[in-house]
Amino acid sequence: STQPVRIAVTGAAGQIGYSLLFRLASGELLGPDTPVALQMLEVTPALGALEGVAMELDDCAFPLLTEMVRTDDAEVAFGDADIVFFVGAMPRKAGMERADLLEANGGIFGPQGAALAKAAKPDVNALVVGNPANTNALIALGSAEGLDPRRVTAMTRLDHNRAKAQLAARLGVTVNDITKMTIWGNHSTTQYPDLVHCEVGGRSAFDAVGDEAWIADTYIPTVAKRGAAIIEARGASSAASAANAAIDHVRDWVKGTPEGDWVSMGVVSDGSYGVPEGLVSSFPCTTRDGEWEIVQGLDIDDFSRPRIDASAEELASERDTVRELGLI
Ligand code: NDP
Repeated sequence: STQPVRIAVTGAAGQIGYSLLFRLASGELLGPDTPVALQMLEVTPALGALEGVAMELDDCAFPLLTEMVRTDDAEVAFGDADIVFFVGAMPRKAGMERADLLEANGGIFGPQGAALAKAAKPDVNALVVGNPANTNALIALGSAEGLDPRRVTAMTRLDHNRAKAQLAARLGVTVNDITKMTIWGNHSTTQYPDLVHCEVGGRSAFDAVGDEAWIADTYIPTVAKRGAAIIEARGASSAASAANAAIDHVRDWVKGTPEGDWVSMGVVSDGSYGVPEGLVSSFPCTTRDGEWEIVQGLDIDDFSRPRIDASAEELASERDTVRELGLI
């Protein structure tokens, strides 16, 4: 019989976990021929809630779900993992300074990075969803001794999908007509959704929109602040679309991007496009056989340059804070 793909999920009893786990177990990530073992991590107080989630997974009688692990020990959760979703993180609370937020997450992602390097498969595909995702990935990499830094990525795919949906609505087309979308930089309000290189029916989306002021003053902020708009409308954060984007990210990373298109992924910078080496920043990436490459050779115009630089500067300042705190 086929060995199951071992998929670890941290923060498994949270809101995103509740949307994500059922789709993983139903085979939406790797298709109907791949059995799945779910390795679910929670903090000790949430193990009871996690038991309830596991009971519901049982009750779905998913044909592909061959095994479930429930634990509060990261090394157990990451044991032989092929794929890891880092969902659990410390959310920003009212009045919290950024340094406090980064320190709290250092306490989570430092030990989890070490456990990942120790216990997961060396060619693991790991995605950080929990915020601040880019810098949490940087912290995890800082303690992931011996692990190839290319194995850990951060999620900007929800921003990417939002950027496509907003553009499609503006142009009266479908998301299928849009290719080469890029989110540059940090998963934060400084992110830059790039319509210059994005294509609609083979033509630059920037030109197809034909209204620079709308792009600068409406489109970019709408994409960047969509999460807050959903909290406002729903009274709860965007967990289902975040889980969907996490599946999109890992599926495309493992299965490869189509010819003539690319996706946005937070990856360790090699200095491309002036983004300082070592930062975990979002770039246009192509993927193949579980590996990613930053798309090279794009011309960066005067509209894009300061926006890419501003988000890179924010990431550099988060890295500096994390360094000062001794987390990397
Ligand atoms: P969610 O499942 O809603 O969110 C988890 C993380 O994802 C948060 O950092 C959140 O950031 C981020 N996130 C939420 N929405 C989006 C989005 N639309 N796009 C990108 N990122 C998003 O949080 P819950 O509080 O429901 O669940 C968290 C769970 O994690 C809890 O059960 C907690 O016990 C657990 N946890 C587990 C740990 C562990 O396994 N060791 C460690 C820490 C927590 P933001 O706050 O910015 O929305």
